[in-house]
Amino acid sequence: MPVANDKRPVILTGDRTTGPLHLGHYAGSLKNRVRLQSTHQQFLLLADAQALTDNAREPDRVRRNVLEVALDYLAVGIDPTVTTICVQSALPALAELTLLYLNFVTVARLERNPTIKDEIQMRGFGRDIPAGFLCYPVAQAADITGFKATIVPVGEDQAPLIEQTNEIVRRLNHQIGRDVLLEARALIPDIGRLPGVDGKSKMSKSQGNAIPLSASSDQIRDAVRRMYTDPDHLRAADPGKVEGNVVFTYLDAFDQDPLGVEDLKARYRRGGLGDVVVKRRLEKVLQTLLAPIRERRERLSRDPGFIIEVLRKGTSEARERTQATLDELRGALGLSVLQ
Ligand code: ATP
Ligand code: MG
Repeated sequence: MPVANDKRPVILTGDRTTGPLHLGHYAGSLKNRVRLQSTHQQFLLLADAQALTDNAREPDRVRRNVLEVALDYLAVGIDPTVTTICVQSALPALAELTLLYLNFVTVARLERNPTIKDEIQMRGFGRDIPAGFLCYPVAQAADITGFKATIVPVGEDQAPLIEQTNEIVRRLNHQIGRDVLLEARALIPDIGRLPGVDGKSKMSKSQGNAIPLSASSDQIRDAVRRMYTDPDHLRAADPGKVEGNVVFTYLDAFDQDPLGVEDLKARYRRGGLGDVVVKRRLEKVLQTLLAPIRERRERLSRDPGFIIEVLRKGTSEARERTQATLDELRGALGLSVLQ
């Protein structure tokens, strides 16, 4: 747990509670979070309020997945005695910060945000964009700054959102005349974004192209079997393409033996190596990675009371911290007539 006067750099990241976490989360950011938790002061946000911005008709799904994502955190090795896990909707200061920040960003700027543009298209909103969805980058700015975080480990798709956060920070600090809020830096792993098993640009909970961290060994086997490879590689003897071939992308991300993977790539390019062989190797890699996570998850899921206790404690700490930022900002903006 964070201690008073903790001087370690502060990390904040979150996950929308739209479904259990998947390999994209693991490669894209969870691995970093597990690694950094011992040297940094880390807060993990279960972003149920943000999940509602495009799931307003499925509040049940959003609520159910709060526990699922929390379980995923603990199963991959997030230690609740050093990392604070909290629930976004139970932190009213974040909603109030969002409201203040909305005055420091224009609708045109939000519409130009490349992440938002991509996501609007992916979700097929057309012109009917929920206002909450368009504004979620502002809420994300409130999350990051509310915790006074300076490091945000995220997938590559989130980089424009951190830029947007820093713009808001600069505007507010300029308005106030001193640095009340801190700018943050995105920590993006080399892998960038992990594609979906269907070859689409991003593995995503909402797109049905994910391998969840909780996948059974049968699910892993089936997903690898159906995985997108090189559509022109019809016979094993033919030369194959490695670029855009999801099986190789996953081997790059998860295989512990990169030289072995390079060798395999060369043989595939040359011709004479069938998809089945490459897939067999990937299946083994994924089974080995996910089996212990799945077992830990199963064990933890038998004690939901423990998870709720972790969330209760983390959220109460987070409430104090975010309220302090809100009080400071309100004071700085002069919204303090009654104090
Ligand atoms: P949704 O489809 O509901 O938006 P998601 O799968 O995109 O869900 P988020 O909760 O939006 O997941 O993202 C949480 C974090 O995981 C973010 O930092 C995001 O960049 C990262 N992430 C999600 N998917 C991937 C991926 N395929 N590759 C790399 N990072 C990812
Ligand atoms: Mg997302």
